[in-house]
Amino acid sequence: MSIAIVIPVYREEKNIMKLYDRLEAVTKDIKEFQWDYIFVNDGSPDNSLQVLKQLALQDKKVKVIDFSRNFGKEIALTAGVHAAKTEAAICMDADLQHPPELIPELIKAWRGGAEVVATIRVSIANQPLLRQLGSSLYYWLMGMISPLDMASKTTDFRLFDKKVMAALHQVTERERMFRGIIDWMGFKKAYVEFHADEREGGRASYSYAKLWHLALNSITSFSLLPLRLTTYLGLSIALVSVVLLIVMLLARFYFAPKLFTSLAIVVVINIFLNGIVLMSVGLIALYIATIHTEVINRPLYIVRERVNFD
Ligand code: UDP
Ligand code: MG
Repeated sequence: MSIAIVIPVYREEKNIMKLYDRLEAVTKDIKEFQWDYIFVNDGSPDNSLQVLKQLALQDKKVKVIDFSRNFGKEIALTAGVHAAKTEAAICMDADLQHPPELIPELIKAWRGGAEVVATIRVSIANQPLLRQLGSSLYYWLMGMISPLDMASKTTDFRLFDKKVMAALHQVTERERMFRGIIDWMGFKKAYVEFHADEREGGRASYSYAKLWHLALNSITSFSLLPLRLTTYLGLSIALVSVVLLIVMLLARFYFAPKLFTSLAIVVVINIFLNGIVLMSVGLIALYIATIHTEVINRPLYIVRERVNFD
């Protein structure tokens, strides 16, 4: 039996060796499995690739996939899992915020029958307040608007059974959110809690801008609610104004001709038309959304080089 550890790498030259050492310390005690460490270099501008290649020379279980450019962490994770030919894959960050020491617990839950073992981050050492707020708000919002059962605070530090890995091959969307896709797939889940340390060397490359983009993506790919809201908003504006218009016209011609000025009536007609326009835009957007989810068909990533894969 074998397990692959999949690690996306972007500007992590300082952390790779530390992570490797900690992985070795953990995996050498789990003798019943063969291990692969699949590092996906996501177009790092620093020396990450050199460090990885050096490591791959010394240790055959270190495998490297080098992307032709930066494709983002979600795609890097996907490529790593695609390349794994093992009974299970464990995805984790390279910056040691996901403690390798938790791996035995993940394996235990997997052997207990879970097909996806997700970790829940109970806390993060020294996380900026804005980031904490953003993350809580995000999970709350996603819980409200999307049908996904996204347990709050779960991370990408996860173990997947090979059935899940096979299912991932069928997923083709580009603007992907790895966690969201896995949650969407279903499968039997188990959760393991941990406390995340501060990131080791280097700085977090998930800038607020990138996180915002990811959050928006997960909304557009897993929820059509914002679009429906536009439609409903337009519909309610149209309905309310049409009722108002009827009242106004009745007043004008039957019981109180002086109550509403002509200008007021024209304004309400205008609001009614705006409501119709908004509703139609929302409807069109719904169709576009459906098409959008169907058409995109470019390859997910381009690999420059693979090391230690036979
Ligand atoms: N990462 C990546 N591509 C990117 C950005 C990040 O492969 O474009 C990797 C990075 O090397 C790390 C993981 O994704 O292994 C998480 O990145 P980071 O620590 O910057 O994000 P955060 O911990 O804030 O979620
Ligand atoms: Mg990090």
